[in-house]
Amino acid sequence: MRIPVIAGNWKMNLDRAAAVALARDLRDGLAGVARGSVEVGVAPPFPYLEAVRGLLRGGPIWVGGQDLSPEKLGAFTGDVSGAMLADVGCSHVIVGHSERRQKGESGELCGRKVVAALAAGLIALLCVGETLAQRDAGKTNAVVLEQLDSGLRGVAAADAPRVLIAYEPVWAIGTGRNATPAQAGEVHRVVRSRLAQLWSRELADTTRILYGGSVKAENAAELLAVEEIDGALVGGASLTAPSFLKIIAACPNRAR
Ligand code: PEP
Repeated sequence: MRIPVIAGNWKMNLDRAAAVALARDLRDGLAGVARGSVEVGVAPPFPYLEAVRGLLRGGPIWVGGQDLSPEKLGAFTGDVSGAMLADVGCSHVIVGHSERRQKGESGELCGRKVVAALAAGLIALLCVGETLAQRDAGKTNAVVLEQLDSGLRGVAAADAPRVLIAYEPVWAIGTGRNATPAQAGEVHRVVRSRLAQLWSRELADTTRILYGGSVKAENAAELLAVEEIDGALVGGASLTAPSFLKIIAACPNRAR
């Protein structure tokens, strides 16, 4: 059984008041949702983490960072460590989002960030996904598997329960063009097979693999109905409570 995860990546959006208001609306909107049927999280911009976390404390919505440094501490201007994220109440952190990989973040760096996240006691949400050119060239599986291998290189099987994967085809992020349920399901199966090779069949079967890329209220149900899709990483549609709550409501209840 894999409880679906719906995570909102707020990116560099909102101001403090809007972030707090969104967190409050999500908290209130989720008050009637059965705990255990779906897991919900948000990744606000760094400066608003503490305010959002304060509002959500004690509730079911986790708070995560959008990135972290691979280093523990020191002269790394502008960086934020895993320990700092944990210190302000984060339980999760996104690693290897394509918007960072496109700026030069390598697979090796993502792997070090995953290790740093786990060392800080965080759950790492590792993003993988191909560009349109790579898909058109028939390289989807090779690219995704290479990102997966390098991202998980330092992760022992014992830490597998603290890893989430998000398959996010780059061509679907922020473009309004989502992968079809069949396209996403196919890559999710490939990812899960690799997890079985890296760790074990049992750990692969319990690892949540989220889909991300233009998930919205209108397409969430058909994507989330796919057996292999264990939730969604949502960008644009996570920025307003009504659309994010509709996506959460579209989750099939696999907790029974
Ligand atoms: C994302 O940035 O992780 C994402 C999936 O964005 P969007 O939902 O806007 O495509």
